[in-house]
Amino acid sequence: MADQKVIDQAERVLYKTYNRYPVVFDHGKGVTLYDSEGNAYLDFGAGIAVMGLGYGDEAFNQAVKAQVDQFTHISNLFYNAPSADAGEKLLAVSQMDKVFFTNSGTEAIEGALKIAKRYHYNKLHEAMGDGADGCEDWEPDMTGEIIAMNHSFHGRSLGALSVTGNAHYQEPFRPLIPGIKFAEFNNLDSVKALINEKTCAVILETVQGEGGIYPATEEFLKGVRALCDQHGLLMILDEIQCGMGRTGHMFAWQGYGVKPDVMTVAKALGNGMPVGAFLACGPAAAAMVPGDHGTTYGGNPLVTAAAAKVLDLFAERRIVEHVREIGGYLWDTLEKLAAECPLVKDHRGLGLIQGLEFTVPVGPVVQEALLGQKLILISAGANVIRFVPPLVIEKEDVDEMARRLKAAIGAVES
Ligand SMILES: *Cc1c(COP(=O)(O)O)cnc(C)c1O
Repeated sequence: MADQKVIDQAERVLYKTYNRYPVVFDHGKGVTLYDSEGNAYLDFGAGIAVMGLGYGDEAFNQAVKAQVDQFTHISNLFYNAPSADAGEKLLAVSQMDKVFFTNSGTEAIEGALKIAKRYHYNKLHEAMGDGADGCEDWEPDMTGEIIAMNHSFHGRSLGALSVTGNAHYQEPFRPLIPGIKFAEFNNLDSVKALINEKTCAVILETVQGEGGIYPATEEFLKGVRALCDQHGLLMILDEIQCGMGRTGHMFAWQGYGVKPDVMTVAKALGNGMPVGAFLACGPAAAAMVPGDHGTTYGGNPLVTAAAAKVLDLFAERRIVEHVREIGGYLWDTLEKLAAECPLVKDHRGLGLIQGLEFTVPVGPVVQEALLGQKLILISAGANVIRFVPPLVIEKEDVDEMARRLKAAIGAVES
Protein backbone atom coordinates (compact mmCIF):
# COMPACT_ATOMS: atom_id res chain seq x y z
CA MET A 1 0.00 0.00 0.00
CA ALA A 2 2.74 2.39 1.02
CA ASP A 3 4.42 1.39 -2.23
CA GLN A 4 1.51 2.47 -4.36
CA LYS A 5 1.60 5.89 -2.74
CA VAL A 6 5.26 6.31 -3.63
CA ILE A 7 4.66 5.09 -7.17
CA ASP A 8 1.75 7.46 -7.69
CA GLN A 9 3.71 10.38 -6.29
CA ALA A 10 6.74 9.59 -8.43
CA GLU A 11 4.61 9.32 -11.57
CA ARG A 12 3.01 12.64 -10.72
CA VAL A 13 6.24 14.59 -10.15
CA LEU A 14 9.21 12.94 -11.86
CA TYR A 15 9.90 13.74 -15.49
CA LYS A 16 8.80 10.69 -17.38
CA THR A 17 11.82 9.40 -19.28
CA TYR A 18 11.68 5.90 -17.79
CA ASN A 19 9.13 3.11 -17.71
CA ARG A 20 9.79 1.83 -14.22
CA TYR A 21 8.91 -1.55 -12.72
CA PRO A 22 6.34 -1.33 -9.90
CA VAL A 23 8.81 -2.01 -7.09
CA VAL A 24 9.96 0.47 -4.45
CA PHE A 25 13.34 -0.46 -3.05
CA ASP A 26 14.18 0.52 0.47
CA HIS A 27 17.61 -0.78 1.46
CA GLY A 28 20.26 -3.32 0.58
CA LYS A 29 22.86 -5.60 2.07
CA GLY A 30 25.55 -7.39 0.10
CA VAL A 31 23.98 -8.65 -3.14
CA THR A 32 20.43 -8.41 -1.80
CA LEU A 33 17.98 -5.53 -2.17
CA TYR A 34 14.85 -5.23 -0.03
CA ASP A 35 11.61 -3.60 -1.10
CA SER A 36 9.57 -1.54 1.34
CA GLU A 37 7.55 -4.61 2.32
CA GLY A 38 10.68 -6.52 3.27
CA ASN A 39 10.85 -8.84 0.24
CA ALA A 40 14.43 -9.82 -0.63
CA TYR A 41 15.68 -9.62 -4.24
CA LEU A 42 18.89 -11.12 -5.59
CA ASP A 43 20.54 -8.32 -7.56
CA PHE A 44 22.35 -9.23 -10.78
CA GLY A 45 22.13 -5.68 -12.12
CA ALA A 46 24.03 -3.80 -9.38
CA GLY A 47 22.30 -0.51 -10.19
CA ILE A 48 23.60 -0.88 -13.77
CA ALA A 49 27.11 -2.11 -12.97
CA VAL A 50 27.61 0.45 -10.20
CA MET A 51 27.54 -1.39 -6.86
CA GLY A 52 30.77 -3.34 -7.30
CA LEU A 53 31.23 -3.83 -3.56
CA GLY A 54 27.55 -4.55 -3.01
CA TYR A 55 25.17 -2.72 -0.70
CA GLY A 56 25.78 -1.59 2.87
CA ASP A 57 29.50 -2.35 2.98
CA GLU A 58 30.66 -1.32 6.47
CA ALA A 59 34.16 -0.15 5.56
CA PHE A 60 32.94 1.82 2.55
CA ASN A 61 30.07 3.42 4.47
CA GLN A 62 32.36 4.42 7.33
CA ALA A 63 34.72 6.20 4.95
CA VAL A 64 31.84 8.13 3.35
CA LYS A 65 30.31 9.04 6.73
CA ALA A 66 33.65 10.30 8.04
CA GLN A 67 34.02 12.54 5.00
CA VAL A 68 30.46 13.88 5.42
CA ASP A 69 31.42 15.08 8.89
CA GLN A 70 34.65 16.66 7.69
CA PHE A 71 33.18 18.47 4.69
CA THR A 72 31.44 17.37 1.52
CA HIS A 73 32.37 20.06 -0.95
CA ILE A 74 35.02 22.60 -1.68
CA SER A 75 35.51 24.28 -5.04
CA ASN A 76 38.19 23.33 -7.51
CA LEU A 77 39.78 26.73 -6.89
CA PHE A 78 41.48 25.09 -3.90
CA TYR A 79 43.17 21.79 -3.09
CA ASN A 80 41.66 18.96 -1.06
CA ALA A 81 43.32 15.77 0.13
CA PRO A 82 40.72 13.15 -0.95
CA SER A 83 40.81 14.15 -4.63
CA ALA A 84 44.62 14.03 -4.74
CA ASP A 85 44.56 10.67 -2.92
CA ALA A 86 41.89 9.18 -5.20
CA GLY A 87 43.74 10.51 -8.25
CA GLU A 88 47.01 8.94 -7.14
CA LYS A 89 45.34 5.57 -6.61
CA LEU A 90 43.45 5.67 -9.89
CA LEU A 91 46.61 6.51 -11.86
CA ALA A 92 48.44 3.65 -10.14
CA VAL A 93 45.93 1.03 -11.30
CA SER A 94 45.37 2.52 -14.75
CA GLN A 95 48.98 3.35 -15.75
CA MET A 96 47.70 6.75 -16.93
CA ASP A 97 49.45 10.09 -16.33
CA LYS A 98 46.63 12.51 -15.42
CA VAL A 99 43.04 12.31 -14.21
CA PHE A 100 40.08 14.70 -14.15
CA PHE A 101 37.13 13.76 -11.92
CA THR A 102 33.58 14.25 -13.20
CA ASN A 103 30.08 13.72 -11.81
CA SER A 104 29.01 11.06 -14.28
CA GLY A 105 29.99 8.87 -17.17
CA THR A 106 28.55 11.13 -19.81
CA GLU A 107 30.65 14.03 -18.50
CA ALA A 108 33.76 11.87 -18.58
CA ILE A 109 33.04 11.29 -22.29
CA GLU A 110 32.61 15.04 -22.85
CA GLY A 111 36.06 15.61 -21.37
CA ALA A 112 37.62 12.85 -23.46
CA LEU A 113 36.15 14.36 -26.64
CA LYS A 114 37.45 17.79 -25.67
CA ILE A 115 40.97 16.37 -25.16
CA ALA A 116 40.82 14.88 -28.66
CA LYS A 117 39.76 18.16 -30.21
CA ARG A 118 42.25 20.25 -28.23
CA TYR A 119 45.10 17.82 -28.98
CA HIS A 120 44.55 18.16 -32.71
CA TYR A 121 44.02 21.89 -32.55
CA ASN A 122 47.42 22.13 -30.86
CA LYS A 123 49.04 19.85 -33.42
CA LEU A 124 47.65 21.79 -36.36
CA HIS A 125 48.85 25.05 -34.90
CA GLU A 126 52.31 23.68 -34.35
CA ALA A 127 52.36 22.43 -37.93
CA MET A 128 51.34 25.90 -39.08
CA GLY A 129 54.28 27.25 -37.20
CA ASP A 130 52.63 29.26 -34.46
CA GLY A 131 51.58 28.80 -30.86
CA ALA A 132 48.40 27.20 -29.60
CA ASP A 133 46.70 30.54 -29.15
CA GLY A 134 45.57 31.67 -32.52
CA CYS A 135 46.56 31.42 -36.14
CA GLU A 136 45.33 33.34 -39.12
CA ASP A 137 45.10 30.36 -41.46
CA TRP A 138 43.09 28.20 -39.12
CA GLU A 139 39.49 27.31 -39.98
CA PRO A 140 37.28 25.56 -37.45
CA ASP A 141 36.54 22.62 -39.75
CA MET A 142 40.15 21.73 -40.44
CA THR A 143 40.17 19.13 -37.70
CA GLY A 144 37.97 17.48 -35.14
CA GLU A 145 36.41 14.46 -36.84
CA ILE A 146 35.87 11.53 -34.53
CA ILE A 147 35.23 7.92 -35.44
CA ALA A 148 32.78 6.09 -33.17
CA MET A 149 31.12 2.67 -33.41
CA ASN A 150 27.67 1.49 -34.38
CA HIS A 151 25.69 0.09 -31.42
CA SER A 152 27.90 2.00 -28.99
CA PHE A 153 26.68 3.78 -25.88
CA HIS A 154 28.53 6.72 -24.36
CA GLY A 155 25.85 8.69 -22.52
CA ARG A 156 23.02 11.17 -22.89
CA SER A 157 24.55 14.63 -22.97
CA LEU A 158 24.73 16.08 -26.46
CA GLY A 159 28.43 15.37 -27.03
CA ALA A 160 28.22 11.83 -25.70
CA LEU A 161 24.98 11.27 -27.60
CA SER A 162 26.74 12.42 -30.77
CA VAL A 163 29.16 9.46 -30.54
CA THR A 164 26.45 6.99 -29.46
CA GLY A 165 25.73 4.79 -32.47
CA ASN A 166 22.02 4.42 -31.90
CA ALA A 167 19.73 6.24 -34.34
CA HIS A 168 16.76 5.88 -32.00
CA TYR A 169 18.51 7.78 -29.18
CA GLN A 170 19.89 10.43 -31.54
CA GLU A 171 17.04 11.19 -33.90
CA PRO A 172 14.87 13.61 -31.86
CA PHE A 173 17.88 15.67 -30.80
CA ARG A 174 19.51 16.49 -34.11
CA PRO A 175 21.52 18.37 -35.14
CA LEU A 176 24.22 16.87 -32.91
CA ILE A 177 27.89 17.81 -32.96
CA PRO A 178 29.26 17.58 -36.51
CA GLY A 179 32.11 15.45 -37.79
CA ILE A 180 31.19 12.13 -36.17
CA LYS A 181 31.44 9.02 -38.35
CA PHE A 182 30.38 5.52 -37.42
CA ALA A 183 32.33 2.34 -38.10
CA GLU A 184 31.38 -1.28 -37.41
CA PHE A 185 32.61 -2.60 -34.08
CA ASN A 186 35.13 -5.43 -34.57
CA ASN A 187 35.56 -4.53 -38.25
CA LEU A 188 38.93 -2.87 -38.72
CA ASP A 189 38.49 -2.13 -42.41
CA SER A 190 35.39 -0.09 -41.63
CA VAL A 191 37.49 2.11 -39.29
CA LYS A 192 40.31 2.43 -41.77
CA ALA A 193 37.89 3.55 -44.49
CA LEU A 194 36.75 6.54 -42.42
CA ILE A 195 40.15 8.03 -41.58
CA ASN A 196 41.09 11.27 -43.33
CA GLU A 197 43.27 14.29 -42.58
CA LYS A 198 40.61 15.79 -40.29
CA THR A 199 40.23 12.73 -38.07
CA CYS A 200 41.43 13.29 -34.52
CA ALA A 201 40.28 10.25 -32.52
CA VAL A 202 38.64 6.86 -32.42
CA ILE A 203 36.30 6.21 -29.49
CA LEU A 204 34.97 2.81 -28.48
CA GLU A 205 33.95 0.69 -25.52
CA THR A 206 36.41 -2.12 -24.84
CA VAL A 207 33.33 -4.26 -24.23
CA GLN A 208 30.13 -2.85 -25.70
CA GLY A 209 27.65 -2.89 -22.82
CA GLU A 210 24.32 -1.27 -23.68
CA GLY A 211 24.68 -2.46 -27.29
CA GLY A 212 24.38 -6.12 -26.25
CA ILE A 213 27.61 -7.20 -24.45
CA TYR A 214 30.12 -7.50 -27.28
CA PRO A 215 33.79 -7.70 -26.24
CA ALA A 216 36.24 -6.22 -28.73
CA THR A 217 38.31 -8.90 -30.43
CA GLU A 218 42.02 -8.72 -29.72
CA GLU A 219 42.69 -8.31 -33.42
CA PHE A 220 40.34 -5.34 -33.62
CA LEU A 221 41.63 -3.53 -30.54
CA LYS A 222 45.25 -3.97 -31.57
CA GLY A 223 44.34 -2.94 -35.10
CA VAL A 224 42.67 0.28 -33.89
CA ARG A 225 45.76 1.03 -31.77
CA ALA A 226 48.01 0.55 -34.81
CA LEU A 227 45.80 2.77 -37.00
CA CYS A 228 45.80 5.49 -34.34
CA ASP A 229 49.60 5.33 -34.10
CA GLN A 230 50.00 5.39 -37.86
CA HIS A 231 47.73 8.42 -38.36
CA GLY A 232 48.46 10.31 -35.14
CA LEU A 233 44.94 9.81 -33.72
CA LEU A 234 44.00 9.49 -30.09
CA MET A 235 42.54 6.16 -29.04
CA ILE A 236 39.77 6.72 -26.48
CA LEU A 237 38.50 3.69 -24.60
CA ASP A 238 35.21 3.98 -22.72
CA GLU A 239 35.63 1.78 -19.63
CA ILE A 240 32.63 3.22 -17.81
CA GLN A 241 30.78 -0.09 -17.71
CA CYS A 242 33.46 -2.70 -18.37
CA GLY A 243 36.19 -1.11 -16.21
CA MET A 244 36.78 -1.27 -12.45
CA GLY A 245 37.51 -4.97 -12.30
CA ARG A 246 34.44 -6.19 -14.12
CA THR A 247 36.24 -8.19 -16.82
CA GLY A 248 38.73 -9.75 -14.42
CA HIS A 249 41.21 -6.96 -15.13
CA MET A 250 41.13 -3.59 -13.41
CA PHE A 251 40.43 -2.13 -16.86
CA ALA A 252 39.32 -4.31 -19.73
CA TRP A 253 42.08 -3.08 -22.07
CA GLN A 254 44.69 -4.45 -19.67
CA GLY A 255 43.57 -7.92 -20.74
CA TYR A 256 44.32 -7.13 -24.39
CA GLY A 257 47.83 -5.70 -24.14
CA VAL A 258 46.60 -2.46 -25.71
CA LYS A 259 46.85 0.92 -23.99
CA PRO A 260 44.59 3.85 -24.89
CA ASP A 261 45.66 7.50 -24.92
CA VAL A 262 42.48 8.52 -23.12
CA MET A 263 40.05 6.48 -21.09
CA THR A 264 36.82 7.09 -19.20
CA VAL A 265 35.58 5.54 -15.96
CA ALA A 266 32.45 5.99 -13.85
CA LYS A 267 29.77 3.53 -12.64
CA ALA A 268 31.63 1.27 -10.15
CA LEU A 269 34.29 3.89 -9.35
CA GLY A 270 32.20 5.39 -6.54
CA ASN A 271 30.20 2.29 -5.55
CA GLY A 272 27.07 4.45 -5.68
CA MET A 273 28.59 7.87 -5.04
CA PRO A 274 28.30 9.88 -8.26
CA VAL A 275 31.84 10.09 -9.57
CA GLY A 276 33.45 9.48 -12.94
CA ALA A 277 36.77 10.40 -14.47
CA PHE A 278 38.63 10.86 -17.69
CA LEU A 279 42.28 9.91 -17.74
CA ALA A 280 45.02 10.49 -20.28
CA CYS A 281 48.62 9.51 -20.85
CA GLY A 282 51.45 10.75 -23.03
CA PRO A 283 50.97 14.01 -24.94
CA ALA A 284 47.16 13.78 -24.53
CA ALA A 285 47.68 14.32 -20.79
CA ALA A 286 48.83 17.89 -21.39
CA ALA A 287 46.60 18.90 -24.31
CA MET A 288 44.16 20.95 -22.23
CA VAL A 289 45.40 23.93 -20.24
CA PRO A 290 43.94 26.04 -17.39
CA GLY A 291 40.64 27.50 -18.52
CA ASP A 292 39.83 24.72 -21.02
CA HIS A 293 37.62 22.63 -18.77
CA GLY A 294 35.98 22.79 -15.38
CA THR A 295 33.24 21.57 -13.08
CA THR A 296 31.70 22.81 -9.85
CA TYR A 297 31.03 19.50 -8.10
CA GLY A 298 33.43 17.28 -10.03
CA GLY A 299 35.93 15.48 -7.81
CA ASN A 300 34.66 17.04 -4.61
CA PRO A 301 36.00 15.54 -1.37
CA LEU A 302 32.88 13.48 -0.67
CA VAL A 303 32.90 11.52 -3.91
CA THR A 304 36.67 11.23 -4.15
CA ALA A 305 36.89 9.95 -0.56
CA ALA A 306 34.44 7.27 -1.74
CA ALA A 307 36.48 6.49 -4.86
CA ALA A 308 39.73 6.30 -2.86
CA LYS A 309 38.08 3.87 -0.44
CA VAL A 310 36.74 1.77 -3.31
CA LEU A 311 40.26 1.49 -4.73
CA ASP A 312 41.68 0.56 -1.31
CA LEU A 313 39.04 -2.13 -0.81
CA PHE A 314 39.60 -3.52 -4.31
CA ALA A 315 43.26 -4.09 -3.40
CA GLU A 316 42.64 -5.34 0.15
CA ARG A 317 39.97 -7.81 -0.88
CA ARG A 318 41.59 -8.85 -4.14
CA ILE A 319 38.36 -8.06 -5.99
CA VAL A 320 39.85 -8.43 -9.47
CA GLU A 321 41.16 -11.94 -8.70
CA HIS A 322 37.76 -12.83 -7.26
CA VAL A 323 36.03 -11.63 -10.45
CA ARG A 324 38.26 -13.89 -12.54
CA GLU A 325 37.29 -16.90 -10.48
CA ILE A 326 33.60 -16.21 -10.08
CA GLY A 327 33.34 -14.94 -13.67
CA GLY A 328 34.47 -18.35 -14.87
CA TYR A 329 31.85 -19.98 -12.69
CA LEU A 330 29.15 -17.66 -14.07
CA TRP A 331 30.34 -18.51 -17.58
CA ASP A 332 30.04 -22.27 -16.99
CA THR A 333 26.66 -21.87 -15.33
CA LEU A 334 25.24 -19.80 -18.19
CA GLU A 335 26.70 -22.22 -20.75
CA LYS A 336 24.73 -25.01 -19.10
CA LEU A 337 21.58 -22.91 -18.97
CA ALA A 338 21.98 -21.93 -22.62
CA ALA A 339 22.38 -25.57 -23.65
CA GLU A 340 19.11 -26.44 -21.90
CA CYS A 341 17.14 -23.50 -23.24
CA PRO A 342 16.29 -23.39 -26.95
CA LEU A 343 15.36 -19.68 -26.70
CA VAL A 344 19.00 -18.79 -26.00
CA LYS A 345 20.89 -18.06 -29.18
CA ASP A 346 24.28 -16.77 -27.99
CA HIS A 347 26.36 -16.29 -24.85
CA ARG A 348 29.03 -13.56 -24.74
CA GLY A 349 31.14 -11.59 -22.33
CA LEU A 350 34.09 -11.55 -19.98
CA GLY A 351 34.35 -11.87 -16.19
CA LEU A 352 31.23 -10.40 -14.61
CA ILE A 353 29.93 -8.66 -17.71
CA GLN A 354 28.12 -11.36 -19.66
CA GLY A 355 25.09 -11.50 -21.88
CA LEU A 356 22.63 -14.12 -23.09
CA GLU A 357 21.06 -13.34 -26.43
CA PHE A 358 17.60 -14.79 -26.94
CA THR A 359 15.75 -15.47 -30.16
CA VAL A 360 12.88 -13.36 -28.78
CA PRO A 361 12.61 -10.06 -26.86
CA VAL A 362 13.69 -10.60 -23.24
CA GLY A 363 11.34 -8.05 -21.64
CA PRO A 364 8.85 -10.65 -20.38
CA VAL A 365 11.62 -12.83 -18.87
CA VAL A 366 13.21 -9.84 -17.11
CA GLN A 367 9.83 -8.81 -15.72
CA GLU A 368 8.92 -12.33 -14.58
CA ALA A 369 12.36 -12.73 -12.97
CA LEU A 370 11.79 -9.52 -10.99
CA LEU A 371 8.14 -9.87 -10.00
CA GLY A 372 7.80 -13.67 -9.92
CA GLN A 373 11.27 -14.76 -8.80
CA LYS A 374 12.68 -11.72 -6.98
CA LEU A 375 15.72 -11.71 -9.25
CA ILE A 376 16.97 -8.42 -10.67
CA LEU A 377 18.29 -8.68 -14.22
CA ILE A 378 18.63 -5.99 -16.83
CA SER A 379 18.46 -6.18 -20.57
CA ALA A 380 20.97 -4.77 -23.06
CA GLY A 381 18.93 -4.06 -26.15
CA ALA A 382 15.73 -5.97 -26.94
CA ASN A 383 17.01 -9.54 -27.05
CA VAL A 384 19.89 -9.67 -24.58
CA ILE A 385 19.86 -10.27 -20.83
CA ARG A 386 22.89 -8.65 -19.27
CA PHE A 387 24.59 -10.03 -16.16
CA VAL A 388 26.50 -7.31 -14.29
CA PRO A 389 26.18 -8.32 -10.62
CA PRO A 390 28.07 -6.83 -7.69
CA LEU A 391 31.69 -8.01 -8.02
CA VAL A 392 31.49 -9.65 -4.59
CA ILE A 393 28.97 -12.37 -5.55
CA GLU A 394 29.76 -15.94 -4.54
CA LYS A 395 29.06 -19.28 -6.23
CA GLU A 396 25.86 -19.78 -4.21
CA ASP A 397 24.54 -16.50 -5.64
CA VAL A 398 25.27 -17.68 -9.18
CA ASP A 399 23.51 -20.99 -8.51
CA GLU A 400 20.52 -19.21 -7.02
CA MET A 401 20.37 -16.78 -9.94
CA ALA A 402 20.38 -19.67 -12.43
CA ARG A 403 17.60 -21.46 -10.53
CA ARG A 404 15.40 -18.35 -10.52
CA LEU A 405 16.17 -17.45 -14.13
CA LYS A 406 15.23 -20.96 -15.30
CA ALA A 407 11.96 -20.67 -13.38
CA ALA A 408 11.26 -17.29 -14.96
CA ILE A 409 11.96 -18.60 -18.47
CA GLY A 410 9.72 -21.59 -17.74
CA ALA A 411 6.89 -19.35 -16.56
CA VAL A 412 7.12 -17.12 -19.64
CA GLU A 413 7.24 -20.10 -22.02
CA SER A 414 4.13 -21.75 -20.57
C1 LIG B 1 26.55 4.14 -18.42
C2 LIG B 1 27.51 4.42 -19.49
C3 LIG B 1 27.83 5.73 -19.87
C4 LIG B 1 27.12 6.94 -19.29
O1 LIG B 1 27.32 7.07 -17.93
P1 LIG B 1 26.34 8.00 -17.07
O2 LIG B 1 26.94 7.99 -15.71
O3 LIG B 1 24.99 7.35 -17.12
O4 LIG B 1 26.33 9.33 -17.68
C5 LIG B 1 28.80 5.91 -20.84
N1 LIG B 1 29.43 4.87 -21.40
C6 LIG B 1 29.15 3.60 -21.07
C7 LIG B 1 29.90 2.48 -21.71
C8 LIG B 1 28.17 3.33 -20.12
O5 LIG B 1 27.86 2.06 -19.81
